Amino acid sequence: MKTLDLSIVVPIYNEAESIPYLLDAISNSAEQTGLTYEIICVDDGSIDGSTDVLKKETQTRSSLKAIILRRNYGQTPAMAAGFTESQGKIIITLDGDLQNDPADIPLLLEKLEQGYDLVSGWRKNRQDDAITRLLPSKIANWLIGKITGVKLHDYGCSLKAYRAELIDDMNLYGELHRFLPALAYIEGAKITEIPVNHHARRFGQSKYGLGRTFRVIMDLLTIFFMKKFLTRPMHVFGFFGLIVTMLGFLMGIYLTFLKLGLGQSIGDRPLLILCALLILTGVQLFSFGLLGELLMRTYHESQKRPIYRIRDIFQDQTLIRH
Ligand code: UDP
Ligand code: MG
Repeated sequence: MKTLDLSIVVPIYNEAESIPYLLDAISNSAEQTGLTYEIICVDDGSIDGSTDVLKKETQTRSSLKAIILRRNYGQTPAMAAGFTESQGKIIITLDGDLQNDPADIPLLLEKLEQGYDLVSGWRKNRQDDAITRLLPSKIANWLIGKITGVKLHDYGCSLKAYRAELIDDMNLYGELHRFLPALAYIEGAKITEIPVNHHARRFGQSKYGLGRTFRVIMDLLTIFFMKKFLTRPMHVFGFFGLIVTMLGFLMGIYLTFLKLGLGQSIGDRPLLILCALLILTGVQLFSFGLLGELLMRTYHESQKRPIYRIRDIFQDQTLIRH
């Protein structure tokens, strides 16, 4: 049930030193809005003591809910856990490393009130390493925009505001949190962006390196497929299957005419091989399409299985779920 105005979801993986500052900044900013709110910190299997820091913070902050995952699942599952446990009508996400500025929260809300379902932050003055972060990110942003059709400057910014209904409609896998705007777009959401602050990391270190680029590209391909064909695989595979089979079939008729009508030998003709190949691939493409349709239905209709397992949830000094 959505009983609060605002849920602020923060994935935490080894950010022990940042947490107290972060919680102060978020609380300050949220108090200003005058809305009812909760802060949901999802500890994604930290090993630097973040878990204890979070547990301790729940003793003094009644608005804080600490969700402790059993192990390190990654940023996307951590965020998904926070979403599922959230009770706000609006959900704000941001990083736990103080790189995003909680002071921007009221601006995001204001923009959301103008009738948007998703407001994304744009790190106009991004404070990260130029070669390993900014350049790949520039290319990725351009590519993502081209392929998904969502025009944003900065997909990688975690500081975003969503309407909760939108979040409920989206399923997250892999590292798809970066593509939430694209997924939201597939769900028909109204999306916009505003410039937000960005600071250099004060404590700890980034959890990602250049290897992320490859995973982003793979995720992008998935999104591309989802956007175009998820609910209609038969339109793609069936269409090509039919054309290819038809081509093979026509060649077959022509060859049959040569053989039976004109009495020519066709056994040594490359066209015969092509004809057989086309019919075979065509039938296969067609069957792929049918299988795709079946899988797609299972995907959409089967029971939803969470991509994470929660160990504990703490609130008001106590363990409220185990
Ligand atoms: N994070 C997480 N699980 C992970 C990796 C990262 O919950 O496996 C969190 C991390 O604590 C931070 C956010 O995701 O709050 C973004 O991570 P990071 O700051 O390292 O990414 P960057 O800003 O360098 O892109
Ligand atoms: Mg960061």
